[in-house]
Amino acid sequence: MSDSLLVDAGTRLQAAMKHVSISEDAIARLKHPKMSLSVSIPVRMDDGSLTIVQGYRVRYDDTRGPGKGGVRYHPNVTLDEVQSLAFWMTFKCAVLNLPFGGAKGGVTVNPKALSKLELERLSRGYIDAIADFIGPDVDILAPDVYTNAMIMGWMMDQYSIIRRQISPAVVTGKPITMGGSVGRDVATATGAYFVIESMAPKLDLIPQYTTIAIQGFGKAGAVLAELLAKAGYKVVAISDSQGGIYAKKGLDIPSIRRYKMSSQSLQAVYCQDTVCNIVEHEQLTNAELLALDVDILIPAALENQITQENVNDVRARYIFEVANGPINSEADKVLDSKGILVFPDILVNAGGVTVSYFEWVQNRSGLYWKMAKVHENLKQKMVEESQYIWSIAKELAVSLRTAAYVHALNRLGEALNAKGTRDYYVNGRIPALNSSPN
Ligand code: NAD
Repeated sequence: MSDSLLVDAGTRLQAAMKHVSISEDAIARLKHPKMSLSVSIPVRMDDGSLTIVQGYRVRYDDTRGPGKGGVRYHPNVTLDEVQSLAFWMTFKCAVLNLPFGGAKGGVTVNPKALSKLELERLSRGYIDAIADFIGPDVDILAPDVYTNAMIMGWMMDQYSIIRRQISPAVVTGKPITMGGSVGRDVATATGAYFVIESMAPKLDLIPQYTTIAIQGFGKAGAVLAELLAKAGYKVVAISDSQGGIYAKKGLDIPSIRRYKMSSQSLQAVYCQDTVCNIVEHEQLTNAELLALDVDILIPAALENQITQENVNDVRARYIFEVANGPINSEADKVLDSKGILVFPDILVNAGGVTVSYFEWVQNRSGLYWKMAKVHENLKQKMVEESQYIWSIAKELAVSLRTAAYVHALNRLGEALNAKGTRDYYVNGRIPALNSSPN
């Protein structure tokens, strides 16, 4: 297997291509990112020194609309990672039938080592560096790992200063007072919850008898843990970058979230009013969490968590990928052969970009929606596309991941073909329309 995330991501296309009638021209286009920008960001530190930080923005494809994708702050960010994330965004937007292409940004930095002022200077510096590359009709930013609404607000503000016009639609996931959408902060988790809920009857899952382990207790993982616990599921294990906790009879997720918010540490607690007490539990490493004998495993941290190194340890019956790319293609084959059903990232975590789309629509129309409307529209999209992917998987006898790529490729291929194919120029044949619903 190649060490490149992008090359590995591309192998998913190979499996899907056999099942779609899409022109060679379209496939050739989708194998390469359209544009990749690499920038050096000068940041004035609190002690007066100057640090140069590496940043990236990649627009993978914009055939179906402006690029759309988050910005990640992490010490391990590389151009290869950002290109892979932009690739996934391209397919995710097509799976959800959003009028966007795929893009992504990243900054190679440990944000935990920066003061708040340094973080603000870095975020504004990043926008200064990429301002000509983005825009509400060109490429739209959003939060990702270790970036949040406040950072999105600074980015939108900086872009507006540069353009000398208020441009809320250039960034989504903003604070509500700056044009953010209600429900955006919990959209990824809520979307994932709708996927699980709509698939539960097909998988014979009864919440109170269904055990769940979640890796990553951040914006996506923690909110999803709470939604699942509220619906009666038994969330028995959770973890963050420091390690995890396990309790056979289930964890009290609302108490743990509250405790983590005030103390920054993950503890198995039960809280009554303001008093939290530690309850019986076991400590786990992240490797142990991934190997738990549970019904559902939810990777919600970073990519490449399940690889050929540890895939044989996985004992869950179902995996719902909330993180982007948590399973590499080699591990995918093993999971498939073991009959472990994997619900892919480009469907499961697409709630975030879907509500980002709603936010962009609201910014451009100037009309703001109530929570119920956001929720209802999100549910409709997530359920509809989940059911569609499930039926493609059954019909073609392929994995759910391949089915999701087939679904996306049909839509992408149709858009790419509409610009003309070899067959059209040589033989005058109008490209055929595919069967995916629009
Ligand atoms: P976040 O920064 O809020 O949380 C990340 C969590 O992962 C934290 O709890 C962190 O401690 C934990 N973590 C980091 N390294 C870890 C490790 N090695 N082992 C276990 N846990 C580790 O990020 P997030 O927004 O929750 O994103 C999580 C994943 O979901 C990412 O892959 C992201 O691309 C994906 N995603 C997020 C969104 C969104 O809207 N937030 C949308 C789509 C996809």
